[in-house]
Amino acid sequence: MEVQERLHDVVSRIHTAEKAAKRPKNAVSLVAVSKTFDTDAIRPVIEAGQRVFGENRVQEAQGKWPLLKGETPDLALHLIGPLQSNKAAEAVALFDVIETVDREKIARAISAEMKRQDRKLRLYVQVNTGLEPQKAGIAPKETVAFVTFCREELDMAIEGLMCIPPVDENPGPHFALLAKLAGECELDRLSMGMSGDFETAVQFGATSVRVGSAIFGSR
Ligand SMILES: *Cc1c(COP(=O)(O)O)cnc(C)c1O
Repeated sequence: MEVQERLHDVVSRIHTAEKAAKRPKNAVSLVAVSKTFDTDAIRPVIEAGQRVFGENRVQEAQGKWPLLKGETPDLALHLIGPLQSNKAAEAVALFDVIETVDREKIARAISAEMKRQDRKLRLYVQVNTGLEPQKAGIAPKETVAFVTFCREELDMAIEGLMCIPPVDENPGPHFALLAKLAGECELDRLSMGMSGDFETAVQFGATSVRVGSAIFGSR
């Protein structure tokens, strides 16, 4: 299958899942995760109409997205991997959305850079729903306090919550937990679901899914 066909297949599976969950068509947006793929692999997906992409490393994204954004100005780029504070300036300059606000230090760095560069990014707080020690994210029970801190101390608008469930677990309870926490924070956007589980995520209320290998092939 060509990459455009795989893209169309993923989009139609999202529509089927929306319908099955009795949610409106296009309630869920697709973030095409292009990490490890080069500009030549990404261009056909842009040409097929996809406009929202995700990358997990700042440096890798800097090597391809200034060029691709120059060619197609209405692209939106999401950072979906952990951010170090020494990369905050570059991340704020290049990305449109940061989905991985996961600790006070990085929230402060992003806030300071947005002011310095006069750029307003859309921001998600990453929640470590499985409390995995190797994984980034705020602990579920600290999520409300952290979102409140971002809003009140840093004057930062948070758009939603993001999670990556443990690979070896049924993702449903993690998606349900993220939805519950978002409700407690009065947030209505949920970034959850990847190639293996995006239909389940749609069922649990995802408003965006991050799909890589089902579109671009295996990495
Ligand atoms: C790589 C990645 C994805 C996409 O994973 P696939 O299984 O290839 O769809 C989604 N979210 C994050 C945070 C990732 O790092």
